[in-house]
Amino acid sequence: MNEVRILDKKFRELISEQAIRKRIDEIALQINRDFTGSEVIFVGILNGAFMFAADLFRKTELNARITFVKLASYQGTSSTGSIKELIGWNEDMVNKKVIVVEDIVDTGATLERIVNELVIRNVAEIKIATMLLKPTAYKLDIPVNYVGFEIPNNFVVGYGLDYNGYGRNLPSIYTLVK
Ligand code: 5GP
Repeated sequence: MNEVRILDKKFRELISEQAIRKRIDEIALQINRDFTGSEVIFVGILNGAFMFAADLFRKTELNARITFVKLASYQGTSSTGSIKELIGWNEDMVNKKVIVVEDIVDTGATLERIVNELVIRNVAEIKIATMLLKPTAYKLDIPVNYVGFEIPNNFVVGYGLDYNGYGRNLPSIYTLVK
């Protein structure tokens, strides 16, 4: 399935399901090594990261917990820049090692907000894992520790990412055909 249509737009396959799976195995291996013997909390950012967070979490062999929070800055295919309310903080994160799990880091506004929230909560350590990173859009100094794939600055869907609510169930990642 190289091309798909979602609502009024056409998308072309960018990253295959197999490539995603292989990369998650590699990242999980790295996280298992980096956090051996530590208690870790994975914090998945809803909605987009639910699939990556689940697949990554399943591959970890750590004394780990997972929780999800929600925050969104996107409507349609371009960033509105407006950050919505953060919901879902219910874990005691004080002095805990946290891995923030993002679907995609674009401008980094979402990431910055999450990191600020964690800093306020005095966590012991913050690492960032993202399935996708758009390096040309990302302008922050916050290091992104585990990156699935770097991609061009185009709109993508699939593997948890949506276009107006649709496309999240596509097993591969697709890029917008203009
Ligand atoms: P940022 O705050 O880094 O600009 O954007 C991060 C959030 O915007 C992501 O968690 C995701 O929900 C959304 N986003 C950014 N780029 C894309 C994209 O190419 N496709 C989709 N579907 N969502 C995106």
